[in-house]
Amino acid sequence: MRLGAHESIAGGFHRAIDRAKAVGCEVLQLFVKSSRSWHLKPISQDEVKLFKEKSLETAIYPVSGHASYLINLAAPQKELWRRSINALIVELERCEILGLPYLVLHPGSHLGAGEREGLKRVAKALGEVHRGTSGLTAKILLESTAGQGTALGHRFEHLGWLMENTPQGDRLGVCIDTCHIFASGYDIRTPEAYEATMAEFDRLVGFSHLRVIHFNDSKGGLGSHLDRHEHIGKGELGIEAFRHFINDSMLPEDISGILETPKGDDLHEDRENLSILRSLVIPEERKEVS
Ligand code: ZN
Ligand code: MN
Ligand code: MN
Repeated sequence: MRLGAHESIAGGFHRAIDRAKAVGCEVLQLFVKSSRSWHLKPISQDEVKLFKEKSLETAIYPVSGHASYLINLAAPQKELWRRSINALIVELERCEILGLPYLVLHPGSHLGAGEREGLKRVAKALGEVHRGTSGLTAKILLESTAGQGTALGHRFEHLGWLMENTPQGDRLGVCIDTCHIFASGYDIRTPEAYEATMAEFDRLVGFSHLRVIHFNDSKGGLGSHLDRHEHIGKGELGIEAFRHFINDSMLPEDISGILETPKGDDLHEDRENLSILRSLVIPEERKEVS
């Protein structure tokens, strides 16, 4: 597993790589546009060139995109639903231009229409996005959510159903967020709880579809449905949960582990959280003995 963090694109896409390098990332996640506004400025050739040169030079790879929070593919209002589809198409195209293999997406919120209705809308919308982006290699990764409000994706069943029922569903992958799954009711704190949770994930979604893990501790307790991230080891999850993920030989080797933990301007928190995660790696020789 390669480890890194979500970094800001303030000052340009290449600046996110500078920040990632400064804190010791091997992988990176960024927004491909401002995450809280619909406004979009086209990406220039120069920006793409600068960004690609820096990623090569620093060997920070892969870089994952994270979709805007305004996108809601489950929206019951036709206008917002359509707008979300169009925005997601543009974001996926931006990933392709920048050479990002993944775009992490929250499946959406049904806003009272019910989970079944909501999931159907999401599958239909994702099908339209796939149809509008044929030939692109950048993939959408559905993120597990805390189930805050009417958010979909807080059960592995939701993610599995979407993979199966989305047109061209083989173009989708999945992202697990440690804070979100815990807040939504999946325990991962003891070896037994972790095994049971991940066996269920494998049965309903499949390890082979897992491309990214968001490593966040949780301010909320088990089943609290609170989407509030905490520093690694400082929240309700605790350090052991992360040790299980980091040393799990069942997970695909080329997975990205990405921090989305709170931070200030000098980013020292990222450096600390990354070194905590790295300290959890159990060397191969010791694993075989135990
Ligand atoms: Zn997310
Ligand atoms: Mn996340
Ligand atoms: Mn979150």
